[in-house]
Amino acid sequence: MSDAIDRTGLRDRFWEHVPLKKMTQREWEALCDGCGKCCLNKLEDEETGDVALTRVACRLLDGESCLCSQYPIRHQFVPECITLTAKTLESHLYWMPQTCAYRLLHEGQPLYDWHPLISGDPESVHRAGVSVRNLTVPEFEVDDDDWEDHIIEEPL
Ligand code: SF4
Ligand code: SF4
Repeated sequence: MSDAIDRTGLRDRFWEHVPLKKMTQREWEALCDGCGKCCLNKLEDEETGDVALTRVACRLLDGESCLCSQYPIRHQFVPECITLTAKTLESHLYWMPQTCAYRLLHEGQPLYDWHPLISGDPESVHRAGVSVRNLTVPEFEVDDDDWEDHIIEEPL
């Protein structure tokens, strides 16, 4: 299946030998496995700092492909969407999914075999059951006060 994220022409297994801070923009973008988990809304307990994941998805997330439907121009619609960089990564680790490739490499862990960079197939992340495919409800369908009713465990 064709890959919506361009992973062609990159340095051979760059994620194993190029530090995050030294990756090119294309290599950085290619690290995203397309799981969609970072596009789910979270609930943070102000007292404990605990973060709960909900299945309430950002309005731009395509629940089937698990990709942002307007990625290049997403900030026009969702100004609060973060731009993850090697510099800002550390400050986001507290909420980032356990299987996120950026988190794994930051922690010195290898990528999973289902990562499209390894499998060569963007569908492998969905077959492995670690994406949000068919799990989400769009945020415009759920009142903010009801997000608590949609808390889920991260699909691993
Ligand atoms: S959690 Fe990480 S790997 Fe998954 S879609 Fe978000 S940035 Fe990409
Ligand atoms: S704007 Fe796009 S990338 Fe940002 S959270 Fe929403 S769906 Fe995800």
